[in-house]
Amino acid sequence: MKQIAWWTEAIILIISFNPAHARGAELVSITEIRPLIEWVETRTNLMLLPRPKIFVSSEALSKLTDAVDSAESQNHQRIAAYRDGVILINEDYWHPGNIADESVVVHELVHYAQDVGGLHYACSNLREEEAYRMQNMFLLEHGERAFLDEADMDRLAVCH
Ligand SMILES: [Zn+2]
Repeated sequence: MKQIAWWTEAIILIISFNPAHARGAELVSITEIRPLIEWVETRTNLMLLPRPKIFVSSEALSKLTDAVDSAESQNHQRIAAYRDGVILINEDYWHPGNIADESVVVHELVHYAQDVGGLHYACSNLREEEAYRMQNMFLLEHGERAFLDEADMDRLAVCH
């Protein structure tokens, strides 16, 4: 993986959007993702309150990522994104019970935990490093392969 994950979300942060107005946007019920929320709460020691809003909508997500270079297509931001208490998931990548899909939601929930906890990081890379580390942990705990290997993680955990 190239070292591009962090600035993708930096770009996402400055694009305004309202996912509720996107055609086809569907709010995922909190019940559906409660196990994921509780997993993140346990690992971060933070209560995710209020609960984040989670929308399944490829349209809202593509609006968010229009500004992102096509080289990003392998990146998880095409699959999901987080901003200001709202998580957007590409509907093509959301199958409840699918561990890989759920690990992406875990990643975005970690970003929400970072906001809720008022946590400060020296740079965006370190926010991403934590989210990917938790995503890897979730995958490994459920018998899947890590999303990023150790070399990728080491490259990510550096402020430039
Ligand atoms: Zn991220």
